[in-house]
Amino acid sequence: MVSFYPGPSQVHEAVSTYMQDAFHNGILGINHRSPEFVSICKRAITAMKNKLAIPEDYTVFFTGSATECWEIIAQSLITDGSFHWHNGAFGERWFQNTRYINPKAKSIAFDPESEPVFTDIATPRDALLAITQNETSNATQVGMDQLRILRKACPDALIAVDATSSMGGIALDFSLGDVWLASVQKCFGLPAGMGIMVCSPASLSRARAIQKDGYYNSLTAMADRMEDWQTTYTPNVLNIYLLMRVMEMAPEIHKTHARLEGQSQSWQRLVDQTRAFSWLIENKNVRSTTVMALKGRPEDLSKIKKLALEKGYLLGNGYGKWKNDTFRIANFPAHQEKDIKQLQELIGNYK
Ligand SMILES: *Cc1c(COP(=O)(O)O)cnc(C)c1O
Repeated sequence: MVSFYPGPSQVHEAVSTYMQDAFHNGILGINHRSPEFVSICKRAITAMKNKLAIPEDYTVFFTGSATECWEIIAQSLITDGSFHWHNGAFGERWFQNTRYINPKAKSIAFDPESEPVFTDIATPRDALLAITQNETSNATQVGMDQLRILRKACPDALIAVDATSSMGGIALDFSLGDVWLASVQKCFGLPAGMGIMVCSPASLSRARAIQKDGYYNSLTAMADRMEDWQTTYTPNVLNIYLLMRVMEMAPEIHKTHARLEGQSQSWQRLVDQTRAFSWLIENKNVRSTTVMALKGRPEDLSKIKKLALEKGYLLGNGYGKWKNDTFRIANFPAHQEKDIKQLQELIGNYK
C-alpha cells in the first residue's frame, strides 16, 4: 500500500535498504556518546544544511516530535509574550499549548482564504512571533514573500515557523525565521518519531539570555551538546542515520520544489475538471504545495477512499472541523510519479 496521508506518510523506497544497512553495520546498538554517533549526526546535519539551503550559522537539533519543539520554544524562548497567527487546527493547537506555559500568549486568527496580515503589528520588542507556514489541517500555506513582510515589520522579534509538513519538500528561506520546526514523517519520507528544529544565532542568544535551564529539553542544554554533535538524551539513532542517507541522496531543494510544484499544478487542473470534488480552499494563492484538501459529499468521499484503497492507495481523512466533508492528499517528495498518475486517473474518472 502507498500512503498519501499527509503524515505519517509514504517513506522513500530506499529506506528499506538503508534500514538493512543500519542493521548490518551495527548502527542500531551504538552509544550516543560514541565517535560513530558523532560522525552520523554530523553527516546528517551537514547533508541537510547543504540540500535544504540552511544558512551556515544556523544550528540543527533533533527532538522527539514537532509538538515537542512547540514546548521547547515556549519554555526556552519566550519572555514577554508570544503572538500566534493561525487559520487551522495545528496553528491553533500551537497557541493553546504555549498558553499553558505562558499565559500571555496571544492568538490572531485569520481566514484560511486569505494571507495573514503582517503590517501594523505592535508587539513588544522581544516578543516571539509564531506562524504555521504550512497548515496541514486545511492545506494552506504562507508564502516566503509574506514572511519577508513580517521580518521587516518586526526586525527585533524572534520568528518561529512551523514547517512540519513542508520542510524537505519546498524551498524555505530560512533567513526569514529564527526557529523552524518539522518532523520526519512528512516531507522527509522517513518513519515517524523524530522532530527537527533549526535555530538562528539570534534565537540561541535569546535562549542564553533567558537561561531557563532544567527542562527536559532546555534549548541552552541542547545547544551545548550540539557543539559536539550530540543530543541531551539518547536520540532516535536509526532515524538520524536514515535522515543522513536520505539527505545525502536527495537532490537540492530547488529541484524537489519544482517537481512538487509541477505535480501540484497537474492536480489543480485535474480537480478543476471533476464534478464530485472541489478545493476546500478557493484562493489558489494560499493553497499548499505539499498537502491538498478536497471537498465533496460525504458519500463520494467514502466511495473514493474505498476505491483508492482497492488500488493500494491510502488517502488522508479530513482534519478537525473539515473532517466530514474533505479528504487530503499528500504531495511529498517520496511519492512516485507512477502512483500519482494512477491516483489522478482514479480521481479524474470518478463519477
Ligand atoms: C504533523 C504536524 C505537527 C505535529 O507533528 P508531530 O511530529 O506529530 O508532533 C505540528 N504541526 C504541523 C503543521 C503538522 O503538520
